[in-house]
Parts: sequence; C-alpha cells; structure tokens
Amino acid sequence: MELPFLKELGESSLTDITREVPVAEEVNLDEEKETPSTWVPCRNLILLATSGAYAEVISAEAIFVGFNAEEARAYPDNDKEFVSRYNLVLEKAVASFSQPPTVKAPLVDLLKPDIIKKGIEVKAPLHLTYSCYLGGEKHCGICESCLHRRRGFKEAGVEDPTDYIQE
Ligand SMILES: [Zn+2]
Repeated sequence: MELPFLKELGESSLTDITREVPVAEEVNLDEEKETPSTWVPCRNLILLATSGAYAEVISAEAIFVGFNAEEARAYPDNDKEFVSRYNLVLEKAVASFSQPPTVKAPLVDLLKPDIIKKGIEVKAPLHLTYSCYLGGEKHCGICESCLHRRRGFKEAGVEDPTDYIQE
C-alpha cells in the first residue's frame, strides 16, 4: 500500500524529492538538538493508523513494528510510551464489535548491535533485512541509516551480509 500524500507534506528528506538525504554523516542521536532532516512528520502515527485499519479489516490480532531504543533517542514516535499510548487510541478507533489489534514492539528496548545479536540468536535472515533511506534495490552504504546499520554489525561483532553499493 502506498501513501503518496506523504510526499506532499514536505519537510522531510525522506519524502520530499527536492531535499537531499544526508549521506556520509552519522548523526549522534544522543546529541542531536535539531529536528533531523529525515524526520517525517507524524510518520509512525500515519503508518499505524493505516495498518490499524487494515488489521481491523483482516481481523489481525497484532501489528509488529521495528521501533528500537536507538531511534527513540531522536524520534519520539519510536518509544515505549508512544506504543502504549497508541494502543489506547487503537482500542477506541476500532469498531466496538471488533477485537482491536495490539501494536507490539519487541525490539523497543534494544540498540542496533543487540538487535543484530538477537537476529543471529533466532536465525533471522539478516541478509534480507533492509535499512537504506534511499529505497534502492541495494543499500547505498553511505546514508545515515546505512551508517547506523554498518556500525550495528561492527559493534555486534557480526559479519555484515549486506551488499552495499559503496563499500
Ligand atoms: Zn543507505
């Protein structure tokens, strides 16, 4: 399902093609004081509203999200409080004769290296995961998200299986 109206919101380098996605600079999320250019206004609220509607249609019990502790440092819609509050909203947003789905964020307390280690532990196909902000077929290797991904594998002490365009 595409959400083309996100492009019309502007403001974010991830949805506005006139703005460049930052490359070759990893933002220290703990020290970031300004809104990152990669912030998409109300993105997770919009995505969860859409997925909540679909979950109701197909009677899904849960919606899983990949929120993690690292991104929650800079993006407030990635933390436990957001998930908890959103689940309260979802109870009221779903028809009373339906069982409301619950948003689950199993990685919400983990940093990237911990997520990678957990992936290894559960034999997740990490080579099939995708992180790049540019949305191409291959990871660019230099956008902020790719840099976080690279660092995560390095800090986890796990060989990075990602096929980056720029090594
Ligand atoms: Zn990238």
